[in-house]
Amino acid sequence: MSFDSLGLDTKILQAIHEQNYTEPTPIQQQAIPVILSGKDLMASAQTGTGKTAGFGLPILQKLHEMQLKTAVKAEPRKGKRRLYALILAPTRELAAQIGENIRDYSRYLAIRSLVVFGGVSINPQMMKLRGGVDILIATPGRLLDLVHQNAVDLSSVKVLVLDEADRMLDMGFIHDIRRVIAKLPKKRQNLMFSATFSDEIKALAQTILKSPESVAVAKDNSASEQITQYVHRVDKRRKRELLSYLIGKNQWQQVLIFTRTKYGANHLAEQLTKDGIKASAIHGNKSQGARTKALADFKSGQIRALVATDIAARGLDIELLPHVVNYELPQVAEDYVHRIGRTGRAQNQGQAISLVCIDELSQLKSIEKLLKTSIPEIFTQGFEVDPRIKAEPVKKATKRAPAKRRGVDKASTSKKNQNSMKQSSHHTYSKTN
Ligand code: AMP
Repeated sequence: MSFDSLGLDTKILQAIHEQNYTEPTPIQQQAIPVILSGKDLMASAQTGTGKTAGFGLPILQKLHEMQLKTAVKAEPRKGKRRLYALILAPTRELAAQIGENIRDYSRYLAIRSLVVFGGVSINPQMMKLRGGVDILIATPGRLLDLVHQNAVDLSSVKVLVLDEADRMLDMGFIHDIRRVIAKLPKKRQNLMFSATFSDEIKALAQTILKSPESVAVAKDNSASEQITQYVHRVDKRRKRELLSYLIGKNQWQQVLIFTRTKYGANHLAEQLTKDGIKASAIHGNKSQGARTKALADFKSGQIRALVATDIAARGLDIELLPHVVNYELPQVAEDYVHRIGRTGRAQNQGQAISLVCIDELSQLKSIEKLLKTSIPEIFTQGFEVDPRIKAEPVKKATKRAPAKRRGVDKASTSKKNQNSMKQSSHHTYSKTN
């Protein structure tokens, strides 16, 4: 199937061509005709499937057709431009990425789009809204702020998109979403995208969508087949050393690493930097400016390792990202699917490695149960797990610096640790059995 057969304007086809998209992805093949027909849509698709173009292209097509009909020319008079499509996304990063894509696809159209999210000053956003926009991409909280300040009028919206609806619910946006919807005209087209389909999502869909068409790509909760997954068993205290070793030995130039906590992300980024691997952390406590810079540096290759927490990385679109490392497994098995979905996007191959210590074996089990497969194990000589270490509940990160810790450990090599020392030249054990 080619893009030509989807009924898109040549100006849109030209822009797609320049993105080097040769054929529509499965979600695009299914969703574009439904959206063009004007029906509501419930789509099961993760980020990485090409879903943004799946809703973006038909929205642009419909808007373009409407502009031609109403003979609105390239630069309509100020204030005449009325909001046509509202796209809601859970995170600033996702909103920014959708905005970037929409701009790319609409470069030959007379369409104005704008991205608004919290964490940055509201005034410039209000200024930009003054001239009117056709497509607004927003996080729910900031959108409501703008509505309350009368900076945006939602009464003309023809198409509503809820992207990553599951994550919006997880992040507690349900009330904000309902408040936004109450301000929209009753007659409109609704498009909902979600990676997973809980009962809560289905209930939300029932209240928002009218006789929707359903489309789905890939099996529910399954990982993309273009991603090669591995588990590397390793003792917790040697994870950082192993990670630096793997990055160096395999010469990974761009690797996204997941940690469980914000503290863990910062700490690991610092340690990797000490190991000579340029790294930054990205998480909710960082300012928007710092997050944008870290992401830009990562995309441009100025930093090799980006360390992220689940929420911060949600929806990140990094073209050709080859490696994802789970430094710690997520507590919720579904998050594993989201994490590794950052690689192997569209037509590319990717590799996801999970560094799993003994305390995480039960999490690994739940992930494999969800995937309905076992993930193959790989090993690295010199990093074998110590069979004497027993599982214990996942502990809070220690605040001691590694260099200091080595010193402390050596100094405190007590009798009870001496046996362990004999058998391993790599490290000492403060954790006794
Ligand atoms: P998304 O799921 O929308 O985040 O898209 C994931 C990635 O796939 C993005 O980098 C898109 O630029 C890319 N992409 C979208 N559609 C296509 C296509 N038809 N062919 C190749 N790449 C695509």
